[in-house]
Amino acid sequence: ANQPLAKAFNEETLKRYIASQPHLHQIFGNDLSDVRVDEIGDGNLNFVFFVTNKQAALAFKQALPYSRMSGGARALTCERLAFETAALREFARLAPDYIPHIHHFDTEQSLMVMEFLSPHIIMRKGMIDGVEYPKFADHISTYLAKCLYGTSDFALDPSKKREMVAYFARNVELCEITERLIFNEPFMASDSNRWTSPALDETVHAIQNNLALKLRVADLKYKFLTRSEALLHADLHSGSIMLTEDETKVIDPEFAVFGPMAFDIGILIGNLLINYYAQEAYATAENDRAAYRLSVLKMIEDIWSGFIEKFSHLWHEGRTGGAYSDQGFAQTNGATVTALDTVLHDYLDNLLQDSIGYAATEMIRRTVGRAHVIDVDMIKDDENRAGIEKKILQFAAQILQSPKKYKSIAEFLEPAKQAK
Ligand code: ADP
Ligand code: MG
Ligand code: MG
Ligand code: MG
Repeated sequence: ANQPLAKAFNEETLKRYIASQPHLHQIFGNDLSDVRVDEIGDGNLNFVFFVTNKQAALAFKQALPYSRMSGGARALTCERLAFETAALREFARLAPDYIPHIHHFDTEQSLMVMEFLSPHIIMRKGMIDGVEYPKFADHISTYLAKCLYGTSDFALDPSKKREMVAYFARNVELCEITERLIFNEPFMASDSNRWTSPALDETVHAIQNNLALKLRVADLKYKFLTRSEALLHADLHSGSIMLTEDETKVIDPEFAVFGPMAFDIGILIGNLLINYYAQEAYATAENDRAAYRLSVLKMIEDIWSGFIEKFSHLWHEGRTGGAYSDQGFAQTNGATVTALDTVLHDYLDNLLQDSIGYAATEMIRRTVGRAHVIDVDMIKDDENRAGIEKKILQFAAQILQSPKKYKSIAEFLEPAKQAK
């Protein structure tokens, strides 16, 4: 019954659709004559419409059986929107403050209707404009701790978790994109790759020929493939976050799948670090962006420490799932408490190492691979842009080729702080 749609909604077909859905019709009221529809999507894959009249303002997200950027050339199943909706619902159960309200989902039309976020803007754009988000680190670390812990074996009943893992394991098409675009193509010769040439040729070839670095990325990919630790957003970059100074909302988890917790944390940190390096190009006579740059590094430190604190709190509060819970650990004594503390400590230490690894991988793939980010791509001057991209690549390559274990997030950020 999942009839693939041939084309996007337009104003007429969307109005007719609203009229046919009592729940939506009620939100917009009896008079649909003043309903306005604007396509606002800026993503690669889907269509997003701002639909409003004097009574309501909603966002309609539609997945067609091809990617938006390809104009129909690249086929994709519409089912991705069902995975997105299921993930949003699960995250809303765990961290409702950080998820837009979902009003409606229609499998056949491949359409999801959600709260229109306003005056929230895409975080990437706010950061390019030098807007500070003092509450973001607290918000996103809460979101990450609650969603990752809450969908892990520390919290979930094993049977329930296996059902969820099985459901999201069917999101194969988008996982294949992640595997190819993040872990494969940037680290080998591929027609999909694109970088500022010839300025970066030497740096890129050195990365692609560095065995230690490639083995580290292969290990991170292996963990992505095999570790169904928690339900990931799996596309948690600063373009998937809409916010104001006071509110943070996570959107667009269509890549959702069970995977290593470090993946979500690392992708986010990698994107924030790319923005940090790009700030250099936004400096003006009035604002050299030096303070803003430092605030980005501080934000990354605060995200990590906030996550550790909140995750540890959830862990200590009591594990309700299948892991470290029902083998008699409840009858705690001093030695058990100490031993379990060591388990948590080691777990979080490994999480730090892997998060750093995914952050570095993301920084390389956004510079060398198919999908770049506007933070850097908007820098028009080739030489200026290449200088920044080179710093991003050198920072990330250094991390991936070193067997070093980082003691803290600050130690990891130190070379970025030094980079002038
Ligand atoms: P895609 O999967 O194609 O990347 P997104 O879910 O990221 O689609 O949405 C594309 C754009 O649409 C976002 O960058 C944002 O500007 C806008 N958008 C998406 N959801 C909302 C919303 N709930 N409220 C307001 N704007 C939204
Ligand atoms: Mg998006
Ligand atoms: Mg987008
Ligand atoms: Mg998307």
